[in-house]
Amino acid sequence: MPYDTQPIASHFIDGEYVEDTAGDVIEVIYPATGEVIAKVHAATPAIVDRALASAKVAHAEWAAMSGTERGRILRRAADIMRERNHDLSILETYDTGKPMSETTIADATSGADALEYFGGLAGALTGEHIPLAGGDFVYTRRESLGVCVGIGAWNYPTQIACWKGAPALACGNTMVFKPSEVTPLCALKVAEILVEAGAPKGVYNVIQGMGAVGASLVTDPRVAKVSLTGSVPTGKKVYAAAAAEMKHVTMELGGKSPLIVFDDADIESAVSGAINANFYSTGQVCSNGTRVFVQKGIKEKFLSRMAERMGDAVIGDPMDMETTIGPMASDRQLQIVEGYIAKGIEEGARLVKGGKRLDKDGYWIEPTLFADVTDDMTIAREEIFGPVLSVLDFETEGDVMTRANATDFGLAAGVFTADLTRAHRVVAGFEAGTCYINTYNLAPVEAPFGGSKASGVGRENSKEAINHYSEVKTVYVSMNPCEAPF
Ligand code: NDP
Repeated sequence: MPYDTQPIASHFIDGEYVEDTAGDVIEVIYPATGEVIAKVHAATPAIVDRALASAKVAHAEWAAMSGTERGRILRRAADIMRERNHDLSILETYDTGKPMSETTIADATSGADALEYFGGLAGALTGEHIPLAGGDFVYTRRESLGVCVGIGAWNYPTQIACWKGAPALACGNTMVFKPSEVTPLCALKVAEILVEAGAPKGVYNVIQGMGAVGASLVTDPRVAKVSLTGSVPTGKKVYAAAAAEMKHVTMELGGKSPLIVFDDADIESAVSGAINANFYSTGQVCSNGTRVFVQKGIKEKFLSRMAERMGDAVIGDPMDMETTIGPMASDRQLQIVEGYIAKGIEEGARLVKGGKRLDKDGYWIEPTLFADVTDDMTIAREEIFGPVLSVLDFETEGDVMTRANATDFGLAAGVFTADLTRAHRVVAGFEAGTCYINTYNLAPVEAPFGGSKASGVGRENSKEAINHYSEVKTVYVSMNPCEAPF
């Protein structure tokens, strides 16, 4: 292994690496080969306690600093991440299997964007002055919540660690972050870099573990807020556990998003949109537009161009910059995707391209295109979280809007059309948190990101995230004698 993937220790607590070998061993596997590239230990109750205690103590000092000082540290961390983008991208590729052609532009860089953006906002977070009758007034204080818990999925380990950490820290909170057990390595680097940038010890801690460790964090009375990126079933459990103690939550959950292509769309652009909506990160993206509704007039042309362009995908060594499709992140996820492909064929969808597992070590599957998919098929209803694109036919706008919204999910949605009025009418009608016109799957830090319906609660990124990591205290100031009825 040309790159040392074994971390110094499993956890990062109170400003340093910490080990406790009493915790269960978690093997970290490079999905491209199936090799074990590192081992970490799940957090024991003692480790969970130590991380929360450290975050609790650190909160007082961190919240008392000025926003400008906190922001300076976050922006310094962003600079360090950018300087180390190459090494961080290699680690991200080992952790997830995503090709370097993606990780060098979408992971540490996206994390750095979040640290820079929220670092810039930190000094500008203020309350309000509200004048009242008789000279009285109210002022509001925007205050931190306290200790925040972040729990991540395995598809974007660096990005998720930063998208949660940056706004939390900008507002004066501290964080205990638990990565997915599938990808435990990258968040440790984020913690290391924050300390190097000047974050006081205990401000950002990382502990490893499975769902049980996440669950013990969520129920701890020292925790004020939980931000989860994960599936809807996990989201429901975590939301319920947090609600029992009235904790704040952000839930970034799964989706089954529609992407509608009208007859008048620029076909190459629409095919590009559908590729980005289904095959980036080997289809392991929550906002993917996996139900591609194509109007009947261009259906065959769309399918033939899509199949041709899928033939140009380069499936291979993720470390090679020419590679555009890597493996699935885990054997378990590969098996889930294979199961859905079999179900698609069994239920009568037409397999146009792909669908087969590659005969080599690691967790490889071909990008897959199904046509003639109908709304009732399993592959059109359930989140697959893999490179499986389903094309569904439609004739009229009214019909397709009803069908596009006929799902419990509501994360994202997109439309390709040359008709300006129709584009805005369609997005206004989407029951989804994040919508696209003539593009798909972009998530700049300046824009709110999150889901409607079962896909989530709250928003990440943008100024919106500040509302989810802080609360407003109202202070009524009387300029007059206090009166009472008796
Ligand atoms: P899971 O829901 O299985 O797990 C998410 C995280 O929650 C993991 O760290 C997991 O730990 C942890 N966890 C599991 N059970 C509990 C529990 N009871 N209490 C606290 N924590 C728990 O999701 P995946 O990791 O499989 O990720 C894929 C899912 O994430 C997809 O549905 C995808 O759509 C969604 N996602 C959403 C995004 C968004 O922004 N909306 C972005 C990316 C992904 P462990 O894995 O160690 O068991």
